[in-house]
Formats: sequence, C-alpha cells, structure tokens
Amino acid sequence: MSAKREKSPFQAALAGVREPLRFAAADDFARADRVRDLEDTVCAAAERGRQLAIPPDWQRVFAEVAQLFAEPVDGDARRAAIERALRQTEPLAAPNAVEHALAASVADLPGVGPKRAEQLKRRGLGSQLDLLFHLPARYDDRSRLTTIGELEVGRRATFMGEVKVADWIAGRMRGRGRRTFQAVVGDETGTVNLKWFRGGDALASSLRKGARLLVTGDVRRYRFAKELIHPEIEILRDEHAPGARPGVVPDYAAPEGFPPRTLRRAVAAALARGADLLEGFLPPALVAERGLPSVPEALRAIHAADAPEDVEALQERASRAHQRLILEELYLLEVGLALRHAAQASEPGIALDVGRERVRAAPGALPFRLTGAQQRAWSEIRADLARPHPMNRLLQGDVGSGKTAVAFLAAVAAAANQHQAALMAPTELLAEQHERTLCRLAELGGDVTGLRIERLTASLPRAESEAVRAELAAGRVDLVVGTHALVQEDVRFARLALAIVDEQHRFGVLQRKALSSKTEGHVLPHALVMTATPIPRTLALTLYGDLDLSVIDELPPGRTPVVTDVLRPGEGERVVELLRATLTRGERVYVVYPLVEESEKSDLRAATEQAERIAAAFPEVRVDLVHGRLTAAERGAAMARFEHGDTRILVSTTVIEVGVDVPEATLMVVEHAERFGLAQLHQLRGRVGRGSAPGTCLLVARGATEQSEARLRAMLETTDGFRIADADLRIRGPGEFLGTRQHGRLPDLRMADLVRDARLLAVAREAALACVRRDPGLRRSPDLARAVAARWGDRLALAEVG
Ligand code: ADP
Ligand code: MG
Repeated sequence: MSAKREKSPFQAALAGVREPLRFAAADDFARADRVRDLEDTVCAAAERGRQLAIPPDWQRVFAEVAQLFAEPVDGDARRAAIERALRQTEPLAAPNAVEHALAASVADLPGVGPKRAEQLKRRGLGSQLDLLFHLPARYDDRSRLTTIGELEVGRRATFMGEVKVADWIAGRMRGRGRRTFQAVVGDETGTVNLKWFRGGDALASSLRKGARLLVTGDVRRYRFAKELIHPEIEILRDEHAPGARPGVVPDYAAPEGFPPRTLRRAVAAALARGADLLEGFLPPALVAERGLPSVPEALRAIHAADAPEDVEALQERASRAHQRLILEELYLLEVGLALRHAAQASEPGIALDVGRERVRAAPGALPFRLTGAQQRAWSEIRADLARPHPMNRLLQGDVGSGKTAVAFLAAVAAAANQHQAALMAPTELLAEQHERTLCRLAELGGDVTGLRIERLTASLPRAESEAVRAELAAGRVDLVVGTHALVQEDVRFARLALAIVDEQHRFGVLQRKALSSKTEGHVLPHALVMTATPIPRTLALTLYGDLDLSVIDELPPGRTPVVTDVLRPGEGERVVELLRATLTRGERVYVVYPLVEESEKSDLRAATEQAERIAAAFPEVRVDLVHGRLTAAERGAAMARFEHGDTRILVSTTVIEVGVDVPEATLMVVEHAERFGLAQLHQLRGRVGRGSAPGTCLLVARGATEQSEARLRAMLETTDGFRIADADLRIRGPGEFLGTRQHGRLPDLRMADLVRDARLLAVAREAALACVRRDPGLRRSPDLARAVAARWGDRLALAEVG
C-alpha cells in the first residue's frame, strides 16, 4: 500500500481520465461496453483538467479528450475513442513529464526574451519551477494611496499624480551619451520628481504632460526636493479600466535593471502554466490539523494576493500559505536527515558491556558528584556505547559545564572492555591541557579510573612520538589525546572503540571514515563530539541531523556567575585598579588581544607593548605573553607557569580561546572587545570564575558599530551560552552565524528561515521522524523518497563525505 498524500490537481485529473479508460481497455476491451457512465466520468475529469494551471498544450490534450467523450458512443467507435484518449494522454503520464514541464526555461514565458532569461538564470531563476518558488520580497498595497505632500523620505509609497513636465535633462552621464529622463508629477498637495537613468526612450513617448500616473517606489531626498529613481508607474487611461484599479501588488527581488512588471508577469505566467502540477508531501493529517492550503493554493495566495486584509500576514511570511510552503521545504530536509540518521544508526559497530562493575563505579570515582545534566548525558552515552552500532552524539554544553568529565567516563567504559579511546583537540595547547585534566581525573579515581593516558601531537620529538605509537599499537595505552596527528595513516590502534572530538567547528567534519580504518574489523568507532559553543537547539538538530544530541545545561554547583562590565577608552584606570585588587587577593589575570590575520604584526606589537606596560606597572609579579608565533613548547611552558602560579598575568592573543582551565584565574580583560565575535567573547569569559572565587570580565571597547554594540549588550545581559548563541544568531543571521564555523553545513533553503521558522522546523522534524520510523526505507512512499533525493540528495551526501 502506498502511503497517503496529496496528489496534485493535475495528477488527480489525469487519473480521473486514464483509470476508467484503462479499466475499459483491459483484456482487449473485454469490459469496454459494460463500463457504465464511462463518457460522463472521463469527460468530467478531462473538463477539470483543461481548466487547471498546467502547460497550455496539456490543457489542449484534456480538451480533446473531453470532446471525444462529450457524447455517448458505442461499439467500435467507443473502442477507438478509448484508444485515442489513452494515446493522447500517454505523454502526460510519463514518469518525468511533470518534472520536465516544470524545468521548462523561463524564456518560454511571455515577455521574457533570451536576454531577460539569461539575467534571470544568473540569479538562480532559470526554470519555471524556480520562478514559482521565488516568493515576493514584499507587497505594495496600492489601494492605500498617499498624497504627494505626505511622501516621506526613506519610505516606499504609492500615489497618483498628473505629469506636469516630462523631458530629457542634462544628467551626470551626459558626456558618455547617457541621458536622464525626468517627469515632474503633481497633485493638489505638491509635486515630486521621477527620474530614469536608462530606459527613458520607452517612456518619452507615453509620459506626456497631462497623463495621470499611479506611481510606486522608494522616496529619496535630492537636494531640497524629494524624488523617486526608476519608480514603477502605471499610466491611468480610464479610472474604471481593470488595470487602473490599484490592489495588492507583489514585489520581487529582481536582477539589476529588470523591469518589475515583466518579472511579475513572468511569475504570473509560470503560475498559470505550472501551479497545479505541484503536489504536497506533508502528511495529510498535519495539513488538516493546521488548516493549511494545498501547495498550488498556497502559491496562488502568495503570488496573486489581492485581498488587502491578507497583506500583513503575507509581509511577515506568516500566512497559512507561507506556512505550507515553508513546512514542505523543511519536511523534505528533515526526512532526508532522518533517513541518513537511520542509515548510520544501523551500521555495524562495537557493543561495549556497560554493565561491568568498573563502568558502574566510574562516576563515583570522580572527585565530584555529577550534576543532573551530566548524569543525563552520561546515561544517554552509556546506552549508545552498549549498542552494536556506532554512537554519533553531539555533547553540547557551556564552557566549564563538565563535558570533559563525561567524555572521560566514556573512555573508562572503553577501557573496562579492553578497548581504546582517542580524544582529538583542535590545537596542541588544548591537547596538552586535556591530557593534564584527564590524567588528574585518572589518578584521583584509583583502580576504577586509572587509565593509561598518552599524548600524541605533531610537535612531539620523534623518538617520543614513535614510542607512543608503538604503545598504542600494542594496546598498552587506554586513552590517547592529540590533534589531527591521530588520524594520520601511520597511527595504529590495537582496539579503538571510541573517538572523542573536542570543538568540532575547528576540526571540520568528523573524520569518521579515516578512523574506521583503525578499528578491528574496520567498523566505525563510537563518536562523541563535544562543543562548548552552544547552538540553538533547532539549528543543532538540523545542522547535525545525523547526530544525536545531549545537552549539559547546568553548571557544577558553587560557581558564581562572572560579573561583566564594558569599559570605554579613557577608563583604563579601572582596569589597573581591578588588576591590583585581583593580584592582592592572590588570584590570576588574563589579558586578551585580538589577532586579526591581515594586521597580525601590528596586533602582535600592541599585545607586546601592553605586556611590557603591565609588567612595568606590576614589577612584583611575573607577566607572560603567549601568542601563535611561539612554538608549542614555549606556549606550553608559559601556560604551565600560569597554571602553577609562577606567572600571575597572562597577556595573550586568542590562542587561549577554548578549553584552558585555570581555576585561580578570576579576571579576564578583553582588549578591543568590539573586534571579537559573540561566541568568542563568551568563550573568553568562560575562562574565569571556574574555581570557587567569583570572576570578573572587563570588555574594553575601543570602537563601536551597531553590531559590536549589540554583541556587548548581549554579554551584559546574560551568561547563559544558549541565550548568547540565540543573540548571536539574531545579530548575524544564520548564514553568517554558521558560515565561519560550520563550513557550509547550512542547507540552502529557498523559503524557510531557520531562525524565524524555528517552530515550524520542530514541527517538520517531528513529522519527518514519525514518517521514517513508520517506513524506514520509505519503501511505501517512493514519491517522497524521490522528492527528497531530488532536493537534498547531493547536499546530504556531500556533507557526509565532508
Ligand atoms: P567542559 O569540558 O565542559 O569545559 P570540564 O569537564 O573541563 O568542562 O569541567 C570544568 C571544570 O569543572 C573542571 O575543573 C572539572 O573538574 C569541574 N567539574 C566538572 N564536573 C563537575 C561537577 N559535577 N562538580 C564539580 N566540578 C566539576
Ligand atoms: Mg573543556
């Protein structure tokens, strides 16, 4: 049985014609004479078909069929009519007929010549299908007219006026043979200038003095007057003519210089010859429950809006029509993700026995009690490890929320099963820190957590590195901590079962395939990806649709929130005061400088000078400078001095951004805070207040843009990483928010917006999961499977190869 879904009006009409005909024709027309009402049934369906918004030649096919069966016929004539109708409708029923029709070039549409078609194609609007889903950017309610006197600079408006003067004027371009056409238009409240820098020839003949115009456009100031550049105009010939009645007019994003009216007409034509070819894939129950229109109805409501009361919902893209299209788009995406997830979840993996005494005792052997959130994450991970399929889990949690501790428990589970674990960090510095943290946890837990831990990074002396490799290959290391070096070919594991990846944004897509070559039987190891940069849940679910998600949304007890303050130039005295107070209490200080690549040298100089100034101001303590040009050994030594308290002030570039853990550090000074992204600022702030003493974060802003101020405001408002991420997303928009970090993981959605449509995304996801759970391979929904593959196939496959 095929899963129920909405047919397109075209499919319904075509089936209405062909099914009775094929029934009658079966078995060499054995039943041809016995089918009652054949003519009426077929004729009615064909009549419906000819009136649909489908290609004109298809309408003609339906019309001819309707004609054939308009009158009752018998015997041979009936047989001939049936054969003829089946033959004629055959091409319409071909598997790719609809796809081909929708893929027709925009050049076939009225008003679009080859040149215009080329322009549209460059904007990704090459096919009629593209145009159908090119939704209006906004709507002009031309029934709401303003007077010329009321025109406001910077606003879009529609008004009527009479041409007072219209002529070529000396424009700036005149010397190069370009002229400006200008019309002065007035009503009883005033006059305004309309200007065209090109296309004036076409206007010159029609814009005569005395002509009445309906004008729509953006009002600008020009010297002491108002003007509109390239407004849209309609010449009102007769107030009662249909074209003269103003209504709601969609306004589309168009290629530069493309006449809006031509584009509107092209969209309308695409709608007229293609809308009813479109089917919907959402589960009918969902459509009914939310009272959504069909896809063709939705497209008509959006492109051909004419009821002014709808305008507001349409503008916001919140109408039911928009909801339908957005949900359709998100649903296909989420079904694709769910399919991929299901496929991964059934790959062979390594089942660990998590019931072993050592695994159960591990949490109790930690030097602290797990928080509720950590416990939840751990039990999710433990359940995954026990399955004979690879775990693919994202462990999200704010800086210091205790992710590493949870990952450590997973490594203990592997060791308790005589398997190995690997932890990969984005930088050597972090690998070193992780190693220290993990070694401490291992030591404190005695036999239960006493893992044999080694570090493997590129900077390790050759002999040492070779020794570690040999130990790994011999199975004498339980947990190896390192950088990319770990996935290199010559690294062999005796029995790898678990790969932990810290900060996947820096690491790129998890190199799962590379790791499978290192496990027994070449199966994929369990993978746990830790990220301290919270991503709003809806986004995470979509970006990492192939990962399961565990969230640690609770900080270990006893932490007081970091006090944050923004300082402006001239408030340097406050920084010095706080530095002194902090040092007096015996605590430590970070001073962070941005390091922007283009101006690396001058930034390094600024950081160096500052370090010297601070050292001069506090001669009694040691000040260190850490930056990316130091060797790993130099950096490691400086970090170690800071950790031990030999150094009390660490001036650094952003190399300390993630992961560094020094509980005695309580003051974070961020210089040029305006240059840091919100996620970075949040990471930096997370470096302090990690011990029992409260932390302070001073953000020194030496410049201001609207965005940088918004970031600083967000930092003052909240310390919650998830709320910071939401703010970041709002400030930058999803493209940029993800662009720098997610390496193009953002799906290119045509209609949906992952931020604005977060709720619909959740709805689509739930429906998609239900669908794939019911029908894991989509065997009962081949059309849905095809649609998903057509829309997202490449994209999802690409993301997997990474
Ligand atoms: P993350 O990896 O999320 O940044 P870590 O696991 O490194 O966090 O933990 C941060 C600090 O908090 C570490 O010093 C760790 O020992 C400590 N910690 C982790 N979990 C707890 C807990 N449940 N109670 C107290 N301290 C904890
Ligand atoms: Mg950490």
